[in-house]
Amino acid sequence: MNITILGSGTSHGVPMIGCRCAVCTSSEPRNKRMRPSIVVKSEEGTILVDTTPELRFQALATGLDRVDAVLMTHTHADHIFGLDDLRRFNDLSGEEIPVYGTPTVLDDIRRIYNYIFMQTQLGGGKPRINLVELQPHFRLCGLEIDTFTVMHGTLPVQSYRFTDTTTGKSAAYVTDVNFIPSESMAKLYNLDLLILDAVRYHPHSTHFGLHQALEIVDILKPGQTLLTHLSHDFDHNRLCSETPDGVDPAYDGQNIVL
Ligand SMILES: [Zn+2]
Ligand SMILES: [Zn+2]
Ligand SMILES: [Zn+2]
Repeated sequence: MNITILGSGTSHGVPMIGCRCAVCTSSEPRNKRMRPSIVVKSEEGTILVDTTPELRFQALATGLDRVDAVLMTHTHADHIFGLDDLRRFNDLSGEEIPVYGTPTVLDDIRRIYNYIFMQTQLGGGKPRINLVELQPHFRLCGLEIDTFTVMHGTLPVQSYRFTDTTTGKSAAYVTDVNFIPSESMAKLYNLDLLILDAVRYHPHSTHFGLHQALEIVDILKPGQTLLTHLSHDFDHNRLCSETPDGVDPAYDGQNIVL
């Protein structure tokens, strides 16, 4: 299993429009953060988690030329407003792309992207997607996937755990969260990699602050943790020096082989 961080930034991205802070004006490439997304590759296929407004740039930057399925976490703009860019992956594979989400997420997609589901222009120009209701446990592209709910303020968000049955390695993507219910915590033990939301130093009403994220890491003890959904509060190198061994900020384009 191979995971690439397509974007490690918060909803504004970093640099943030009109901000002249030290991080937003930094020349350190790892302080440049697009909206949050990952791609998970197995021997059998490529799974994209969320379709950010920067999906095109993320695909070009990382050489992503195949998407076999999309898993949605929730429908905030920073997670879904690149869905139309799936067209290019339809063209490349010649296949319709299944998009997995909860019934609420799928309803939101039908409403926000209503043109996709209407009889409109002929001759293409629209993504060809197939909305699939999430099951708690399923198999996709040769990976076992468990999905469970975390809380993002009052909004339930889907988290995903990927297990490669040939190697036994497993990784979880837990973003846009400020509270993990105990039944979901139970699904997050014995991870080789945890990718976890930490938006800034201080607590936030809908995201973990750094301290809360580190408390979760302390309980779960994953092999490795990457923090994501990072705002301009965090300078990459400074945060690397402040986090315990095995915990680091993610950065755009980062590749992890498990
Ligand atoms: Zn977000
Ligand atoms: Zn800034
Ligand atoms: Zn969100």
